[in-house]
Amino acid sequence: MRALYPGTFDPIHNGHVDIAARAAALFDELVIGVYDTSPKSLLFDTAQRVALAEQSLAHLPNVRVVTYRGLTVAFAREIGASVLVRGLRAISDFEFEFQMALTNKKLAPEIEFVSLMTSLEYAYLSSSILKEISRLGGDISGLAPAPVQAALRARFEEMRRSGADPLPVPLISGRD
Ligand code: ADP
Repeated sequence: MRALYPGTFDPIHNGHVDIAARAAALFDELVIGVYDTSPKSLLFDTAQRVALAEQSLAHLPNVRVVTYRGLTVAFAREIGASVLVRGLRAISDFEFEFQMALTNKKLAPEIEFVSLMTSLEYAYLSSSILKEISRLGGDISGLAPAPVQAALRARFEEMRRSGADPLPVPLISGRD
């Protein structure tokens, strides 16, 4: 049975890797679908997001990373995936994932939706929070695979040098 785990993965982090590893144990093959979208609001372009996912998941032999555009269910059909995997964090993800799952079910009734609960240690982790911590020079070891940590440091260094990222604004700013 082939399953598709779709997402933006900007960039992939340990919460994603945990879901991918657990899904890979459930299905014969897991395809990580990296959504090919305009890099405008993203930190990494599609090729970089794919490369980081590949490097982060290289230890899982039945996992491959591909990029796709358009409807996720259309892509699932195209590659013969009968299951869509998503990760669920706390309450915040539920409403959106529920709406997406029901909508996709309407569009593709033959595809099943499997939501895997986040592991407690990654319940708070998102790509946005990871980027924010890294941007402000915080320690991201334990939050993302080594190649992602290196790519984040390099990207922010490059942005700072080119003036694209002015003085960082602290996540929690202390007022005098
Ligand atoms: P999208 O833009 O499709 O939400 P993301 O890259 O943000 O793409 O997330 C892809 C999937 O991984 C989503 O199902 C999301 O809920 C899940 N996910 C993200 N972070 C975590 C985490 N810390 N634990 C478990 N699942 C997660």
